[in-house]
Amino acid sequence: MSPAGRPATTAPVTAFIGLGSNLEDPEGQLRAALLELAELPDTRLVNRSPLYRSAPVGPPGQPDYINAVAALDTRLQPPELLAGLQAIEQAHGRRREGLRWGPRTLDLDLLLYGDRVLSTPALTLPHPRLTERAFVLRPLADVAPGLVLPDGTTVESHLRRCPQGGLVRLET
Ligand code: AMP
Repeated sequence: MSPAGRPATTAPVTAFIGLGSNLEDPEGQLRAALLELAELPDTRLVNRSPLYRSAPVGPPGQPDYINAVAALDTRLQPPELLAGLQAIEQAHGRRREGLRWGPRTLDLDLLLYGDRVLSTPALTLPHPRLTERAFVLRPLADVAPGLVLPDGTTVESHLRRCPQGGLVRLET
């Protein structure tokens, strides 16, 4: 049995995680979070994008964000993986009672879990805003060129339609 309590023979699924931070050394927050993602049980970090700087969405006057995408091979089920992401957010001092789309030390979004389509109160797959934002689509295309979403559309097709203003690639 694996640490998460299921047979070790379950095939791993590739999941993509969107990372964002605009407080308290955002680049450091993301670098630490990537190491922590690699430490999740039954999970392997297989790739990660360069870091990007993006203009904030939401309330005005916030610092710019640093964003990236990580690819994981995981045997965790989606709710377990989401719980793991939320535990990492909490460890980075994220307070959930804050403003929607307000500043945050670390935001981790489960963008895709294989081809899984899911709509529950706690978890929507693919992530509901995945196709709207260049700061998610650009690094996702970096880690998974040619990726096809569960609805048959490609990441690149959404990226072409998405305004890229304010998105700057930093050194990796
Ligand atoms: P946010 O504060 O924007 O990070 O939203 C977090 C909330 O969105 C949590 O209550 C999650 O249960 C919910 N949620 C729904 N779908 C997802 C997803 N694909 N990835 C991360 N959080 C999700």
